[in-house]
Amino acid sequence: MTGTFLGMPAFPQAAAAALRDGRLRANLRHATHTIRDKRARAVAELDDWAELRAAGKAIKDHTLRHLDRYLVQLEEAVAAAGGAVHWAADAEEANRIVADLVHATGETEVVKVKSMATQEIGLNEALAAEGITAYETDLAELIVQLGDDRPSHILVPAIHRNRAEIREIFAERMAAWGRPAPADLTDSPAELAEAARLHLREKFLRARVAVSGANFMVAETGTLVVVESEGNGRMCLTLPRTLISVVGIEKVVPTWRDLEVFLQLLPRSSTAERMNPYTSLWTGLGPSKGADGDGPSAFHLVLLDNGRTAALADQVGRQALRCIRCSACLNVCPVYERAGGHAYGSVYPGPIGAILTPQLRGITSPVDASLPYASSLCGACYEVCPVAIDIPEVLVHLRERVAEQGGHPLERAAIAAAGYLFDHPAALAAAERLAGRTRALHPRRLPGPGRAWTDTRDLPQVPAEPFRDWWRRNRS
Ligand code: SF4
Repeated sequence: MTGTFLGMPAFPQAAAAALRDGRLRANLRHATHTIRDKRARAVAELDDWAELRAAGKAIKDHTLRHLDRYLVQLEEAVAAAGGAVHWAADAEEANRIVADLVHATGETEVVKVKSMATQEIGLNEALAAEGITAYETDLAELIVQLGDDRPSHILVPAIHRNRAEIREIFAERMAAWGRPAPADLTDSPAELAEAARLHLREKFLRARVAVSGANFMVAETGTLVVVESEGNGRMCLTLPRTLISVVGIEKVVPTWRDLEVFLQLLPRSSTAERMNPYTSLWTGLGPSKGADGDGPSAFHLVLLDNGRTAALADQVGRQALRCIRCSACLNVCPVYERAGGHAYGSVYPGPIGAILTPQLRGITSPVDASLPYASSLCGACYEVCPVAIDIPEVLVHLRERVAEQGGHPLERAAIAAAGYLFDHPAALAAAERLAGRTRALHPRRLPGPGRAWTDTRDLPQVPAEPFRDWWRRNRS
């Protein structure tokens, strides 16, 4: 896993900086509460939501157990429909494949449909290093790109920005990316959307290559599915002559009947819509087989592993691969609401990021090791997850893995000392007596790195007389 987040500080340090930003907290609170309330109403409309949720979980679990079989079935179906399938073990390989495919077309520009997988691998940066410009076409992604910013939410990557900030970004940065914003642009949503539409339109019409992800891939027919709200995805998927889709291997579902379940779960959980405005489906080159007129004349599917196989090998952690990226868990998380998405050091913020990122990247950095602790374990994320990922269970499991890898030196020393005392009863009794006799000298607050722990609680007082001495005196 790569991307633009390498070298991030651990979550507590990054979150502390975010917590001092009053405007960020106000933006996040307003946005997450609005979306979560709408989602709750949309979900309450369905009597069979619990059954749908159970079905979604069961389909994903079944597919993950037989992932090898369904991926081969998908590959054969895509190839039979005129598409080419490429396998990428990691981000570097995926970026190389995409860059080579774009070079082969002779083009130096691509338009992009919003895609978490391409953000995960840092595709835009990799293409830029090869002299290829990638234009984001989703409105929120456009705001992030123009602002030279990082996404902070899965569904609404610019959730940390308010209307006034967006107007400022458009006014200052649009010209450098092709078409300036109108001189009299205000921060009304309609005007901002119109400015983005005009800015993007000529890119849609000019681009010969598009890059997308996919929400789902149907193994039985080799069909890819993109679910979106703005129509930019439909433009990218149909206008350019070459389409390259980079998709995580866990996005496959066996059949169209399975897809039906997720097309009910996803819109209500993400945008709180009964049905999303645009659902684009394509199978290889489709019936036109690349004839002039309809759709791309070349289609490439890049199947991305990038840590997913390792996550699949973990019996508790693998449930994170059920995720359909709806964002519902972010919108109810009290930690995300206060810390914001950038503190998670990954394109996957919030509760799902706290369990997915350390598994994809392999707990190799301070930020990865800190993510499983970025939660109060309140369980709100599990309650809203449409595929019933038990995020608190995975968080606790990953905390065990972090602890097994070492933990803090002081924590290790304390555990070693406790281990020695519990192994040697005479030493434990002597330590208890010493602690009882010196209790008046004990501080009520821990010094040094332990201070934060006692900022909100008192240390329990050691009894004057150890229980074993009391028992010896009183048992007769
Ligand atoms: S973990 Fe569940 S709630 Fe969170 S984004 Fe994934 S599917 Fe949605």
